[in-house]
Amino acid sequence: MKSLESLFQPGQVSTRAETKVAYSRDASRIQGPCQGVVWPETVDDVVRLAQWAAETGIDLVPRGAGTGLCGGATPQNSIVVDSSCLRKIGTRDVQSKMVVVDAGVPLDQFNRMLRPDGLFFPVIPGSHRSATLGGMIATNAAGLHAVRYGRMSDWVEEVVVVDGKGEVQRLSSGDRKAFAGREGITGMIVQATLRLTEIPESRSLTLFSFEHLAEMLKQVKQLKTNSTLSALEYLNPHAAALVGWKARHCVLAEYHSAEGEIREPAEMANLWGARESLSARLTQAGFPISEDPQFPPEALEDNLDWLTVQNIPVFGHLGVGILHPRFLREDARIAELYRRVSASGGQISGEHGMGLKKRQWASEALKAEVLALKRQFDPQHIFNRGKLC
Ligand SMILES: Cc1cc2nc3c(=O)[nH]c(=O)nc-3n(C[C@H](O)[C@H](O)[C@H](O)COP(=O)(O)OP(=O)(O)OC[C@H]3O[C@@H](n4cnc5c(N)ncnc54)[C@H](O)[C@@H]3O)c2cc1C
Repeated sequence: MKSLESLFQPGQVSTRAETKVAYSRDASRIQGPCQGVVWPETVDDVVRLAQWAAETGIDLVPRGAGTGLCGGATPQNSIVVDSSCLRKIGTRDVQSKMVVVDAGVPLDQFNRMLRPDGLFFPVIPGSHRSATLGGMIATNAAGLHAVRYGRMSDWVEEVVVVDGKGEVQRLSSGDRKAFAGREGITGMIVQATLRLTEIPESRSLTLFSFEHLAEMLKQVKQLKTNSTLSALEYLNPHAAALVGWKARHCVLAEYHSAEGEIREPAEMANLWGARESLSARLTQAGFPISEDPQFPPEALEDNLDWLTVQNIPVFGHLGVGILHPRFLREDARIAELYRRVSASGGQISGEHGMGLKKRQWASEALKAEVLALKRQFDPQHIFNRGKLC
């Protein structure tokens, strides 16, 4: 570790016991041994670090805010590379609606900076207060407004990545397979050029509730034809009861227009607040394990019914088929859920990623893709060794 410390300014490296404990896990609570933490401040810092890792054989784990839910930022005898000192936000080009931004910028801070120009970045995961733009690119985050705005890969024009050879790569949106959703296995994202959009002039909400799933899914199909629809969030009866809503199948629809029934800002903030409180409430209620399957539309009714009959609380981004069923620790029904997802032609991970948690479920096709990317960008497996698959 002396050789590592000699490469940086005092304070940029820590091997203190309390730091190592703090960085030994992400929000999934999957833990692993951490050898130390580095806070790079420049691209050159990351290059030196990657070269040091290549010489010593110690692997590096890029980390944003650590809000990931699959052990992606969990070290395994690794050095954690915290992006929080990479925080510059470049000048906005209001005309082309683009901005160059460092990877460690947290999403909400970014959006606060953009507000005076009437612009915003519309990919909003539930963890928007702290999730970083680099972490969001690495996981190809989707989130609350995916039904209208898609996911990160739809908004990234270019990224700057320091790869496992210590080389600085500029990758364009055409190369997105090498960085978006690759969970840091090709290198550390240090900067990105992101596209922005205009803040909508009005917003409104309607909270629907249904006795029967078939009735709800019919309405959802209808709602999705509305061009101003901007969110379509689901809570099953178990989850709805927990936030004080009717214990029925509930759908919170947001519009970027005045079409919804609720237009008063405080009332809308209350409803969103209830929806966003669910993750913490479910953890407190004894359901800490968060899954993120993505089902095709035709498989939703059967699987939502199964989850509800099993008394499993569920919420999620129904508009794009990404659900968040919440489980007890060591719940054997998680394996059954994964079998159901595979049988339906869906994805085991719709947005959180595979990390350490789901790597044994990686398909042969994914494994082959990852190995090809490793050969190209990180032949010595410096970055996120053993992750994704
Ligand atoms: C309450 C809650 C709600 C959530 N809601 C959503 C949601 O709606 N949608 C959604 O998609 N996710 C959601 N998540 C999951 C998580 O917030 C996202 O995956 C987010 O994108 C992670 O960002 P982060 O900065 O915390 O990354 P981290 O957790 O620090 O890292 C995540 C992964 O990205 C890699 N990584 C991080 N930074 C970099 C970098 N600069 N370069 C290369 N690789 C990097 C890490 O190695 C790791 O594999 C939620 C999590 C919580 C706790």
